[in-house]
Amino acid sequence: MEKYTAIVLAGGSGKRMGLSVKKQYIEICNKPLLYYSVHAFEKSDVDEIVLVVTPGDENYVKEEIVEKYGFKKVSAIVPGGKERYNSVYEGLKVTRGDYVLIHDGARAFVTKEIIRRSMDGAKEYGACVVGMPVKDTIKVADDDGYVKDTPERSSLWMVQTPQAFFYPLVKDAYEKVLEKDATGVTDDAMVVELATDQKVKLIEGSYDNIKVTTIDDLDVAENILKKQNHC
Ligand code: C5P
Repeated sequence: MEKYTAIVLAGGSGKRMGLSVKKQYIEICNKPLLYYSVHAFEKSDVDEIVLVVTPGDENYVKEEIVEKYGFKKVSAIVPGGKERYNSVYEGLKVTRGDYVLIHDGARAFVTKEIIRRSMDGAKEYGACVVGMPVKDTIKVADDDGYVKDTPERSSLWMVQTPQAFFYPLVKDAYEKVLEKDATGVTDDAMVVELATDQKVKLIEGSYDNIKVTTIDDLDVAENILKKQNHC
């Protein structure tokens, strides 16, 4: 049987929230934000969870999240790096699964169904990312803020996480890209696109699978958690 590892990223500074407490530990419906994504993976069919946290926060996360809520699938808590892609690589180094699902901890509302689709997609396609078709028209701007181009909306997707891969493929791709220059890399699919010929399949996420980023997202977050019966 193949093994599936989830890497949950919580190594960011959360500065855009503008609060003194890091966003991954802000309480919504009486639980820290990071609880929700770890909970979703704990209840899913993945075999293990690797948590990547801000350096220095390892013990705090172990005691206040993993032990407090009794998460059993967490196999490692490792310190992250400067950029998201550095943190992902720290997680990949301790991953043991045949397939890996890389997930932004700040996407707290990921569901068991989305996780299942990602696992199936990784096995069937080797590389897949969840996303949703965009609802708005998207413009490309030039350096002076004028419209340069309007891509056809029907071919545009906003991409979310999990991003799921055959483990050796994504590990090698990260090694190749980090060896050169990873500046500008914003997701994992991009690393695979840059370093390999592997095609990346887009699969269905959810419009609720948002990344909690700014203070305005907190009200939306609470509403989504109510819909999911978390509060
Ligand atoms: O900053 P951004 O919202 O793009 O971060 C996406 C995810 O990556 C968040 O869950 C954040 O905690 C994580 N991250 C990380 N290490 C970094 C930067 C971001 O684990 N250095």
